[in-house]
Amino acid sequence: MLKRLWERCQEWYVNYSEFSKRSEEEGLPYFRDKLFGSILLLTNILGLVSYVPSAVLSIYTGELFVLYIDTFAVLVLLFLAFYKGMSLGLRKKIFSINIFILSFVLFLYLGFRGNGATLLFMLNIMITLYSGREKGLKAVLINAIFYALLIICIYFELANIPSFGMYQVEVLFVILLNNILFNLLIVFAVSFLIDHLHRALLKGNKLQLELIEKHKNVLKEKERAELSDKLKAAFLANISHEIRTPMYGILGCAEFLKSYNTGEKDYLEYVEIIESNGKLLLQVVSDILEVSKIDAGLISVDTTTFNINEIINEIYISLLPLAKEKGLFFLNNNNFMNEHDTIINSDKDKLTSILKHLLKNAIKYTNKGGHVALKCISHNNDYLEFYIVDTGIGIPEDYFKHIFDPFYQVDIQNKKALHGSGIGLAIAKAYTELLGGELSLESREGVGSTFWFAIKTNLNEN
Ligand code: ADP
Repeated sequence: MLKRLWERCQEWYVNYSEFSKRSEEEGLPYFRDKLFGSILLLTNILGLVSYVPSAVLSIYTGELFVLYIDTFAVLVLLFLAFYKGMSLGLRKKIFSINIFILSFVLFLYLGFRGNGATLLFMLNIMITLYSGREKGLKAVLINAIFYALLIICIYFELANIPSFGMYQVEVLFVILLNNILFNLLIVFAVSFLIDHLHRALLKGNKLQLELIEKHKNVLKEKERAELSDKLKAAFLANISHEIRTPMYGILGCAEFLKSYNTGEKDYLEYVEIIESNGKLLLQVVSDILEVSKIDAGLISVDTTTFNINEIINEIYISLLPLAKEKGLFFLNNNNFMNEHDTIINSDKDKLTSILKHLLKNAIKYTNKGGHVALKCISHNNDYLEFYIVDTGIGIPEDYFKHIFDPFYQVDIQNKKALHGSGIGLAIAKAYTELLGGELSLESREGVGSTFWFAIKTNLNEN
């Protein structure tokens, strides 16, 4: 509670003295001045609290001089705290002189019975704190001169100072010398500590500035990367669209040319080359368009209810000629618990696309005489599992991490005459996730690969 009260007082005083206009960025001078403000406020509060009993005691013991000097010191403190038309430097000076005078007088008048020596000791520390080492050392020097004058006066009996009458001058000399040495020690210790804290503060500020600068650069880089990503996606989508449209025209013409001159074998062969390559190109372009849409987050699911058996059979039948052409054994193994399991609610086109991409890869990367199999298993009502197994060339484990990245291919240099754009797996993975599953792989180089995934049987249910 006291702490909160003190914080409130401080807050009020900071506003009153218009210190709030200053900023921490000024560094050490700011903290020194702020500390002085707190000291001034606290000395006022404590001064007023201690003034009352001290005044009563002075009146009671008849030491009215102490009362006058205390009253004078308290009034000066109040003036310093509340009179605004004075610079902070001057205020510090008057504050120090005021406490000096109070301490000297108390020391002369009360000797070691009063608080004079303690006040001097404290004043040296405070000056070091709010004005720096140089001023602190000057304060100790003034203190030493005062003690020296005192010793000289007592030694040469220039003045009668009753409060020191009981001390031998040598003893007094040793006590006061010790006082000065302790004062020096504390001034050095405090200024050493402040110097180190200041250096640490400067270092901290420098690091903070560097960090802010780095953070700004990272943000700029991120923005630049995002912009270039968007541009890339927009460019790919645009160019794919622009290629697809004339491609449809070329394929349409090829179809027309087939019926135009049916008698000539070479002619038909050339037209078929145009047609098959055109379709291949169209597929690549469609895939690029799809991947750019995935990148831009423009893909959404379109759910319908359909029979999975029909889809699997359609895909199997469409790819069987390709597998046969390569001399592969192509198997279709389904394992459904009951008839109901074959009816699912999902995105038909995306599921077809996933299976086609994975099966085409399996066929592409398996050599003559190898096996390619598609298995669909339903373990429970919620998920359907698909396995695409081949006994092909396999994939080294090091590549597993990147294999699903767009445009990534394992065998870039030696393509072994296999066509591909490195997009199929990226699309399959993104689609599987849209259908509520995850695409995984297991593979051994030279032995074969298995890609598997599970999709939700009802995408409308959460
Ligand atoms: P691509 O059009 O090149 O086949 P994909 O994204 O479909 O692109 O596949 C990426 C790469 O993963 C392929 O280039 C190939 O190196 C490897 N890969 C994919 N499927 C198989 C597989 N069944 N067997 C061996 N390697 C595969």
